[in-house]
Amino acid sequence: MAETRKTKVLIIGSGPAGYTAGVYASRAMLEPILVQGIEPGGQLTTTTEVENWPGDTEVQGPDLMVRMEAHAKAMGCEIIGDIISDLDLSQRPFTAKGDSGTVYEADAVILATGARAKWLGLPSEDKFKGFGVSACATCDGFFYRGQEIVVIGGGNTAVEEALFLTNFASKVTLIHRRDELRAEKILIDRLMKSPKIEPLWHHVLDEVVGTDAPLGVEAVRVKHVDTGEITEIPAKGVFVAIGHAPANELVKDVLELHNGGYVSVKPGSTETSVPGVFAAGDLTDHKYRQAVTSAGMGCMAALDAERFLAEQGDAEVAPDAPVAVVG
Ligand code: FAD
Ligand code: NAP
Repeated sequence: MAETRKTKVLIIGSGPAGYTAGVYASRAMLEPILVQGIEPGGQLTTTTEVENWPGDTEVQGPDLMVRMEAHAKAMGCEIIGDIISDLDLSQRPFTAKGDSGTVYEADAVILATGARAKWLGLPSEDKFKGFGVSACATCDGFFYRGQEIVVIGGGNTAVEEALFLTNFASKVTLIHRRDELRAEKILIDRLMKSPKIEPLWHHVLDEVVGTDAPLGVEAVRVKHVDTGEITEIPAKGVFVAIGHAPANELVKDVLELHNGGYVSVKPGSTETSVPGVFAAGDLTDHKYRQAVTSAGMGCMAALDAERFLAEQGDAEVAPDAPVAVVG
């Protein structure tokens, strides 16, 4: 028989937003349950050095997320390895179903499901996914020692991935549809100084070319955005880094969304269009999409949830009392 777990606050997601919400909700004595999802630790587990997390000049993304998990746990947050497959927000208590069969009943929900890598949608990209086509350099870069690689995109992720891949590849071609990168200046500077990286401006990926047996990539065909001219570039690996889309599957038909799928929140808060449901991090933020802003919103969501539960009489906090003790 399926187990039912009741909680005052269910946190869905284990990136910086989710774990920070876990720290704050625990310190507010709300005994939260946090469900980690398919990617415990979130997007930062797919990168190496993080240089803009305050307090750490440089920290490895996966290490930072292990520390955040330990912090949330130490404060009393229950962390569960499960994936929420269905969420009913039509009435309180809200109900979430986990892949494990567990049903979670919650008086308030904090959504922190973040974002996932976008794909170009080419049939050849799909065909070679996992066999030469990847969206995670830190996961798959090691397989391309001494090989030529291409990276598609012009944002922070593409530039960081290209730089990281120089640890393995003989050459990295960064293919971008414009001639201007949207990455941070410090990263662009490193990219331009790298002898192994060659940018290819005004081009898009047209086709991934490879063998069927064994399945593997041999080259990419790229198209000039103005002339349409096709050029073939030898490559054993193709890293697609064209941005991330909000992971809104659980709520896209229920909550108000903005900018093509981000969960809307009231300005200056994390309240969604359903009272008692709060959203934090990349799921709601199309603009900043940083670890530190996600963590900040995770804090806000826990404080908003505490206030909401107090007003409903669901938490042992007087409605007029100041929200959670900070510090
Ligand atoms: P995410 O980190 O996206 O985490 C989402 C969580 O939700 C995951 O744990 C996932 O398992 C969970 N989840 C999703 N669906 C479900 C479900 N159905 N049930 C349960 N759980 C679910 N930012 C910086 O500030 N500095 C950097 O140096 C930096 N480097 C980056 C490098 C790369 C390669 C990438 C991709 C991003 C980088 N970012 C960086 C951006 C940063 O990682 C994100 O802004 C941040 O991780 C967003 O945090 P989040 O908590 O909103 O969500
Ligand atoms: P992003 O900033 O949205 O950049 C996506 C890039 O892909 C853009 O250059 C875009 O081109 C290009 N692109 C999009 N669709 C394309 C298509 N169909 N074909 C070809 N090119 C396409 O995404 P991101 O780099 O993944 O970054 C996401 C967020 O995470 C950002 O907020 C970023 O700051 C953050 N992040 C931060 C760090 C860091 O702080 N060090 C590292 C990684 C990520 P255009 O430029 O022409 O639009």
